[in-house]
Amino acid sequence: MPTRRRGAGAPLPRNWGRIRQAVLARDRQRCAICGGYATEVDHIIPASQGGTDHPSNLQALCRRDHLAKSGREGWQARFGREPKQREREPHPGGWAIGDALDDK
Ligand SMILES: [Zn+2]
Repeated sequence: MPTRRRGAGAPLPRNWGRIRQAVLARDRQRCAICGGYATEVDHIIPASQGGTDHPSNLQALCRRDHLAKSGREGWQARFGREPKQREREPHPGGWAIGDALDDK
C-alpha cells in the first residue's frame, strides 16, 4: 500500500497528547512569542521541513501566535519566502519640525 502524502504538515505522533502536555508544563504555559497564556504546542522547525517531535524542537505558543506562525510557514512552503511586509514610511511631520527648528 503506497504511503499517502499529506498536503500540509506531517502526522502527529501517537503520544502527541502527552508530549504536548509535557511541553506546556515545561514552558509554564507561557507563549514563546508574546509571553501570554499558551494553549498550543508548536514545532520550532516544522515537521514538513524535517523538524522532529522531540521536546527540544517544540515550544508553547498561544493560539493567536500559533496560527500566525503556521500561516507564515504555509506561505513559505508555497512561495519559498516571507510574505512581504509593509515598509515603514517616514513620518511626514518629522521634517517640518526639523525645518522649523533650523530656521533661525
Ligand atoms: Zn503569543
